[in-house]
Amino acid sequence: MATVNIRRDVEDKFYMPVLETKIEGRGNGIKTVVPNMEDVARALNRPPSFPTKFFGSELGAQTTMANERYIVNGAHQADRLRELLDVFIVKFVLCASCKNPETELVITGRGNSEKIHRDCKACGAHTDIDMRHKLTTFILKNPPKKEKKGKKGMTAEANVGGPMVLQENAVNGGGAAGSNEDDSPAPTPSRSKSTDDSLTKGLKDLDVDDDEDDANSPYGQLGTWLEENRSASDADIIAKIKELEIVGKHKALIEIGHKLFTDNIAAEVGTRTALLQALVTSEKHQKSLLGGLERLLALSPDSDELLAKGTTSKVLMALYQEDILDEEVLTNWGTHVSKKYVDKEKSKKVRKSADAFLKWLEEADDESEEESDDE
Ligand SMILES: [Zn+2]
Repeated sequence: MATVNIRRDVEDKFYMPVLETKIEGRGNGIKTVVPNMEDVARALNRPPSFPTKFFGSELGAQTTMANERYIVNGAHQADRLRELLDVFIVKFVLCASCKNPETELVITGRGNSEKIHRDCKACGAHTDIDMRHKLTTFILKNPPKKEKKGKKGMTAEANVGGPMVLQENAVNGGGAAGSNEDDSPAPTPSRSKSTDDSLTKGLKDLDVDDDEDDANSPYGQLGTWLEENRSASDADIIAKIKELEIVGKHKALIEIGHKLFTDNIAAEVGTRTALLQALVTSEKHQKSLLGGLERLLALSPDSDELLAKGTTSKVLMALYQEDILDEEVLTNWGTHVSKKYVDKEKSKKVRKSADAFLKWLEEADDESEEESDDE
């Protein structure tokens, strides 16, 4: 992996991977994926969502962070993003006093007086972040969480959302540096901001499999409830999932895919992208959602008609464009007939009805490979 000094103006021992970009999609859906954002961010000791959001705010572009994919809408040159990364590093990583990159972001104060500073492990300085930058709002809402060992591959939201653990290590490890700037009461291991981003908070709990499939299981109950409440708001659906204590469970996505939509799913799916983005947090969740959709499309009384008019392609395209399902999972799904959710014949038919999309995906991928700027 190509690496580069974190500081561009010196040769020191701190390296990060060279930021890579890949253009995907076309037309209005064209977007720039940063495939190695997690690695770059890890080298900077920041959640990958921070530089991604920074790019978005500097470029005036929307960003999407889901399923370990970090995406800036629009087509952006790799060089431009690398320049912006350098700016990010100066503003949000390097110690303002000694320019060392080994810093932690620490939030102090409360309410309107919240501040972010960099705690430097090298010289002990606490240097303020310029709170006028838009990214600071995002950082305050998504404070950096202490890295969990062996948990590589958590989603962006898991990194920045999840339980809010205020970083305390600067205080614990810094000795003399102390916490004199921290005017909050005794160290709080966590703080609740449950009113913010309530859609996504608390939905990333560890995913534990259990095998209850019957109607009385919480999943069965969710399915029944969804059928009866298809017009429920996203928030109501999430409340129901919480009530049934299946928050974060990938199996809930089987029910969502199967029971929330009707024969008119091609039109309906677009109204539920925010919900699905919040709920689909791993590859497993993606597969369960696909399984549920497969059931819906294969078991509907109008299945043949639905499949004949390419409904599967339309639905998958929408979910791909919104970064709910990713390329790898989709390609894998498209090439593997399975009897896990419906019988084999049906499973084949559903995949056949996705032909147009799967072909498009393959071609779009070839194109983006040519366009990508990997020095
Ligand atoms: Zn320093």
